[in-house]
Amino acid sequence: MSRSSGKSVAIIGAGITGLTAAFRLHQQGCRVTVFERAPHAGGSVQTFRENGYLIEGGPNSLQYGASELKQLVKDFGLESDLVTANAVAKKRFIVRGGKFVPVPSSAGSFFGTSLFGARTKFAIFTELLTRPRVRTTDISLAELVRAHFTQELVDYAVNPLIAGIYAGDPKKLSVRHAFPSLWQAERSHGSLLRGMMALGKAKKARGESGLAPIVSFKHGLQTLIDGALAKLPPGTVRLDTSVETIIPGKPHRLIWKHAGHSGSDEFDTVVLAIPAHGLAHLTFGTLGERRLAMLDAIPQPPVSSLFLGYRREQVAHPLDGFGGLVPEKERREVLGILFSSTLFPDRAPEGHVGLTIFAGGMRQPDSARLSTAALLDRIAPDLRDLVGATGAPAFVKHTFWPRAIPQYIIGYERYQEAIETVEKSAPGLFIGGNVRDGISLPDCVKSGVRLAAEAAKFRV
Ligand SMILES: Cc1cc2nc3c(=O)[nH]c(=O)nc-3n(C[C@H](O)[C@H](O)[C@H](O)COP(=O)(O)OP(=O)(O)OC[C@H]3O[C@@H](n4cnc5c(N)ncnc54)[C@H](O)[C@@H]3O)c2cc1C
Repeated sequence: MSRSSGKSVAIIGAGITGLTAAFRLHQQGCRVTVFERAPHAGGSVQTFRENGYLIEGGPNSLQYGASELKQLVKDFGLESDLVTANAVAKKRFIVRGGKFVPVPSSAGSFFGTSLFGARTKFAIFTELLTRPRVRTTDISLAELVRAHFTQELVDYAVNPLIAGIYAGDPKKLSVRHAFPSLWQAERSHGSLLRGMMALGKAKKARGESGLAPIVSFKHGLQTLIDGALAKLPPGTVRLDTSVETIIPGKPHRLIWKHAGHSGSDEFDTVVLAIPAHGLAHLTFGTLGERRLAMLDAIPQPPVSSLFLGYRREQVAHPLDGFGGLVPEKERREVLGILFSSTLFPDRAPEGHVGLTIFAGGMRQPDSARLSTAALLDRIAPDLRDLVGATGAPAFVKHTFWPRAIPQYIIGYERYQEAIETVEKSAPGLFIGGNVRDGISLPDCVKSGVRLAAEAAKFRV
């Protein structure tokens, strides 16, 4: 790899996207400075260790399949710290009729499950016969699945799954932008099932695992963030420093704020790895124009993550799985419950269990904004009915995300186009992260790698 470039690069945002980009650019000999508004690095990744519990305030796990992620873990020397989700975590639950019902994991169990009725089971066969179709206009995920299968599959599979991944609403999410592989599957195969099977086969042929394992690290996801920080020269990350303005040019001038005072620095290249609302509030040029103001309209609903520790005997459920998700139709307060201490080892002290509860999202944004005490009251009936939890939890850690995950809604191309326009108007400025390149941690790592490659290639 060339170490000759020596150009100066500013990276704005020390989340996983920005830190991945910083590491890759540093490796290539660039002089890197990372600006981070918060007093700590990591962005959405926040791991805490308190009272013998290991708590993830943000993401809890990641899919270990993307080659960019595997290479990063290897380069950080963290392979031996990886932990794979407990084998019983293959079992997942969805609420139906007020109870957790296991999600079928094989063709046999699918036909026996009480989660879906006969019409949905039959629809799987007929869907396999669907002919290819090239849509010209985007469609919501709920509409697509209803068109191919049944409303029941939307209500009892897609709706809870989307609550779990996006804290989102499948009636609003765009197939083209949020699920491009389904969009493509319908075009190439007609049947979404056949399309997805073909995709799996193609992956296998490329030597990639069909279904990537779910992993974390012994000391939680923060390990990935700390791994990046350890590889960057001291002083690279400037915490508590918010970039307010970019004056594009040769070089680009950045105006930042730290501890109440402003300053500025010049860089050959600038990488923006901040969320939608951060981009929306950034001003460009000397006239203070908010060129990405429209990104403020991207829905990014609030989510509360509530980690609860219980004595084992307080929870009747065997907690023999990944956790459970709740369909909107079931009219519950929680979006889902993760069985955190089953999922990974050493997450709760001896004789105790840890659960992570998510509330809010597009479905019930106001629940996310409740105080810890009010939220605990609100979700107590769900905890009692779904996992048989009784009495006050022995430990509580509440993490509130005012804007959790950007929703790739129908019409999302207008936001993508606005980002492209700003990039084109300011050569040497590159924008990525979860507003543009996908919301999962592996997508953000890929985004960081892409940003680094583009910034490294840019001729000053
Ligand atoms: C509650 C929750 C649960 C999730 N669960 C999972 C999961 O289980 N698995 C998974 O794969 N993904 C999950 N995700 C998604 C994933 O965590 C995020 O999409 C990803 O971490 C985003 O990384 P990023 O670096 O792009 O942005 P961020 O993590 O948002 O980092 C951006 C950083 O930029 C900083 N910043 C913003 N504006 C400025 C400015 N003007 N100047 C300087 N700094 C600025 C911010 O302070 C922040 O630190 C979850 C997300 C949330 C919120």
